[in-house]
Amino acid sequence: MLVGLIPAAVLLVVLVAVGYLAWCWVFPFTRCRHSSERHFLRCRRCQSTGTRLRAGRRLLNHIRAARRH
Ligand SMILES: [Zn+2]
Repeated sequence: MLVGLIPAAVLLVVLVAVGYLAWCWVFPFTRCRHSSERHFLRCRRCQSTGTRLRAGRRLLNHIRAARRH
């Protein structure tokens, strides 16, 4: 029984990962969670724009850049 669950669990993880990366590709930017006071003092993560690149999209950009070489 347990042996049959492992491929299903792996498939689920792969589907979630692919879905997340697809989501990051379509919507690469997310709102910065920092408070407005921190934005006033210049936020390093979003350069005080309030939006920042998702970690998944950064990963995709990294993979794309690595493939070019
Ligand atoms: Zn910020």
